[in-house]
Amino acid sequence: MVIGAHLSISKGYPAAARQAQALVLDGFQYFTRNPRGGRVRSLGSDEIAAFRSGRQAAALKTVIAHLPYTVNLGSPEPRQIEFATMVLKEDVKRAAALGTEFVVAHPGRYSQDGVEAGLARVADVLAQGLAEAPPGPVFCLETMAGQKNEIGGTLEELAILVKVLAERVKVGLCLDTAHLFAAGWDIRTWQGIDQLVDRIENLVGWDKVCAVHLNDSKMTLGSHRDRHELIARGELGPEGIKAIVTHPVLRELPFFLETPVDDYSQYADQAALVRELAGVGKI
Ligand SMILES: [Zn+2]
Ligand SMILES: [Zn+2]
Repeated sequence: MVIGAHLSISKGYPAAARQAQALVLDGFQYFTRNPRGGRVRSLGSDEIAAFRSGRQAAALKTVIAHLPYTVNLGSPEPRQIEFATMVLKEDVKRAAALGTEFVVAHPGRYSQDGVEAGLARVADVLAQGLAEAPPGPVFCLETMAGQKNEIGGTLEELAILVKVLAERVKVGLCLDTAHLFAAGWDIRTWQGIDQLVDRIENLVGWDKVCAVHLNDSKMTLGSHRDRHELIARGELGPEGIKAIVTHPVLRELPFFLETPVDDYSQYADQAALVRELAGVGKI
């Protein structure tokens, strides 16, 4: 079982790998640049080498990059399209240099011209931005809660993107348990999870699913509101989280915590709780 958490790279990538190890995590996720701005850390070959060896020493199995929230892949604004395309090109390249396995992005938001026009723009920006992506990281779109104007609140929307892009670029999916629950998927039982797995299998094939953001939800089933909660403290609760992390298909995927901790050190306890609910120890 792989359990990671979202950590900061503000002190450098090697420091993040050491922190993951100190927190007894199996991997971590990082923002490729300032999540609410767009500034990017400089990254030299020395740091890349130090990260690659540090990651090995820490026995980290999976590392995920997350694009900043300021990227809106569905925007009709030329400046935003340019920014999104630039970020896709640069950040996937940097992720590849670091040996990052997956790059996750939110599918974006649509405008007054509606969700179909938005989906067409997302597909264009991704085709453009990923056309010359180096081999290595798999680019993944995240399942969303379906808040106002948010693309990706339904699996059907994500399936359209995966299919439209299939011949041009490879796109996978990252599941977010809080988002899926808010979007109306009752994943608190194996039966509910089976329905989700079947639906994804039928729409795009289960092999497209790369990772899970493991979050409890402050919001109720089908509320379409995106508010994460600490593991077992939210609407999914201990039984719901247990169903997720013991489900024979889901548990094969790497899990990454994005729960609202006061301090990253709390992720050690969050991960320990997940392992307890999953009935596994950490060697
Ligand atoms: Zn996300
Ligand atoms: Zn969220």
